[in-house]
Amino acid sequence: MIAPGATIGILGGGQLGRMTALAAARLGYRCHVFCPEKDSPAKQVSSLSTTAKYSDEKALRRFAKAIDVATFEFENVDVKAARFLARLKPLRPGPNALEIAQDRLKEKDFLRGIGIETAPYFPAANASGLARAMAALGSRAILKTVRFGYDGKGQMPVEPGDSPAALWKRFGAKPGILEGRVDFACEVSVIVARGLDGKIEAYTPVENRHISGILDTTSAPARISPAVNHEATRIAVLAAEKLEIVGLLAVEMFVTKAGRVLVNEIAPRPHNSGHWTIDACVTSQFEQLVRAICGLPLGSPERHADAVMKNLIGDEVEGWQAALKDPGAKLHLYGKGKPVPGRKMGHVTRLKPKS
Ligand code: AMP
Repeated sequence: MIAPGATIGILGGGQLGRMTALAAARLGYRCHVFCPEKDSPAKQVSSLSTTAKYSDEKALRRFAKAIDVATFEFENVDVKAARFLARLKPLRPGPNALEIAQDRLKEKDFLRGIGIETAPYFPAANASGLARAMAALGSRAILKTVRFGYDGKGQMPVEPGDSPAALWKRFGAKPGILEGRVDFACEVSVIVARGLDGKIEAYTPVENRHISGILDTTSAPARISPAVNHEATRIAVLAAEKLEIVGLLAVEMFVTKAGRVLVNEIAPRPHNSGHWTIDACVTSQFEQLVRAICGLPLGSPERHADAVMKNLIGDEVEGWQAALKDPGAKLHLYGKGKPVPGRKMGHVTRLKPKS
């Protein structure tokens, strides 16, 4: 067990790291944030920090000496660097989960391999691969970059009559994956925590509304049937077990009109659709992460209220004063300075009596 007083290393300096560091502080831990940016949301609330590239092995070695356990708050940390760090100090979740989650093809192959349904997909490594994938799919689709895509970035809609060569050029000739477009009834996600002892706690499935590929609103709980709720939870628990996660796994899913549950993507870290747990649950996703990676018993994920979390994206953050005046709203700001279109600047959670 890594007892309070120890230092948790966090790879990544964004808002997920910031909220993890705040939860860690509440339990008596220090945090050391490692990221290439000098000023970052997580560094602002952590007393220890390293500013270096993730691939800088010298800096990683110094970082490892200064911490007791490490975690990451975003997926695009180089797997080689993650493996290097994992040889020096426990990295939780481990590099294997990171490697699968940062590659959309490996992710989908993994899910299919453990019997979890996804949208139909085909690799598209070049223009002729894209042409073959379009022919095989024969329907409206989405072309996504295999790596480094987030918040709808690196995605292009594809219609059956489109020219593969022109699409490929516009896409930027990066390795891609062509996915059939799912005509979903709603999008849901489930966050599970898995402890060092293998025990699992799951948060209630929540419903997510995206605008232009970016999460806008999360409603907890999701308005889904008990059967869909059960299936979504089963899938998230199964994926966390198969990946041997120590920490958190967030699983984003589509619910079709016929009630089928297809996984869109997985993230072995805190997730935007879990921010509501700070204000509405006995144990937030961030505290749960700290407990899991430090080998503490997991807390209760029970919610004491229903909640709606609204992201403040770009200049929506300028409504912060109105949010403060709203007695039903809980404001969270990430300390990011100037609003940039599409950038997550903060969020507001509103609580309602539990249904
Ligand atoms: P992603 O970056 O893969 O999470 O995609 C962002 C959002 O785009 C998703 O949450 C969906 O709203 C939409 N989207 C992505 N893939 C698909 C798909 N295969 N079918 C329908 N909508 C999708």
